Amino acid sequence: MVYDGTKGREGALKENQIPQHGMIRQEGGREDTGKGEVQLLGAGDRAHLQPEGDSVGEILRLLAEYYPEAKTALRYDTPFQLLVATILSAQCTDRRVNNITAGLFKRFPDAFSLAKLEPAELEQHIKGCGLFRAKSKYIIATSRILVEKYGGRVPDRMEELVELPGVGRKTANVVLANAFGIPAMAVDTHVQRVSRRLGLSRGENPKVTEREICQVIPRSMWILAHHWLIAHGRQVCHARRPACVVCPLAGVCPSRRLETV
Ligand code: SF4
Repeated sequence: MVYDGTKGREGALKENQIPQHGMIRQEGGREDTGKGEVQLLGAGDRAHLQPEGDSVGEILRLLAEYYPEAKTALRYDTPFQLLVATILSAQCTDRRVNNITAGLFKRFPDAFSLAKLEPAELEQHIKGCGLFRAKSKYIIATSRILVEKYGGRVPDRMEELVELPGVGRKTANVVLANAFGIPAMAVDTHVQRVSRRLGLSRGENPKVTEREICQVIPRSMWILAHHWLIAHGRQVCHARRPACVVCPLAGVCPSRRLETV
């Protein structure tokens, strides 16, 4: 089954429902099969990931409490614009991407208009962004494929998204979750770091981390949890100096002494 936000898992929290103490209990994790599909895993496969007691539920409850407004900072009106903004966001701040796309999307709002450009033309509009030459090629090639193969629309399936130039698994998950509301866990540097420190994953790379987080967090919470982990990474659990002494999650975090190490 492809990630499908319309089919809730029995016993899972409802979308946006704030977990209370004792509510989170995983009944089956999901594993990426390499084709954008997920399968249920048995309890033994994920036992090593479970933090002690019910700390996953408490972690989610605290994150929900402290970051109730967490959402993507990228500005967009359509799935296509989110896809372009996400491609541009690699090694570039969301603020800078928003500055670039504010003008870009006024002139070229969709795949049809961007597909007509040559890379050198688009470079002039996105050169405030790192890797702009490569991104220009990716965006135009992707736009042309969307026009030719999908009538200008962005597909809502992982295996189709990752076939597009410049679109990796993280970008595809961002689009699935934010443009289509399909449960997905995009693993960026913040999600990777914070989830490891909180004991939600031990993954050495984003793909493994995605699988592990999705095993311990209910599917209905993946989209929100992604935003919460990013917000916490940006505001408190910084890469170099995590603010453990003021962290609201210190009571349930196995890395809470990190700041003093
Ligand atoms: S206690 Fe420290 S390491 Fe743990 S989540 Fe908070 S800031 Fe990060």
